[in-house]
Amino acid sequence: MAANLVPCPSCEGYGWFEDEYEQAADCDWCGGIGYIYRGTDGVDRRIPSTDYAALSDQLERLEAERLRALGYTGQAKKPWEQKIRQQRNEGDSTKDHS
Ligand SMILES: [Zn+2]
Repeated sequence: MAANLVPCPSCEGYGWFEDEYEQAADCDWCGGIGYIYRGTDGVDRRIPSTDYAALSDQLERLEAERLRALGYTGQAKKPWEQKIRQQRNEGDSTKDHS
């Protein structure tokens, strides 16, 4: 199945709504992910949660681009980002002895 990842047209990529009481609610249309599948037939489909792990790299890139376009430099907290953090292994122990 060929489908593009596009920002959710309902929440515009945010994945959630904030009401007047400042309570965040997940977007029903995208399930709080902020992105959806748009098929070659133009039909939008919600991304199944089983696809999140496989799409995490793409979603992270799209989200970084979106936030940069908004001028936002912080980190958004998303369910799939938490999975990314769990999987990340940073071997940052390269110390040279000269
Ligand atoms: Zn949405």
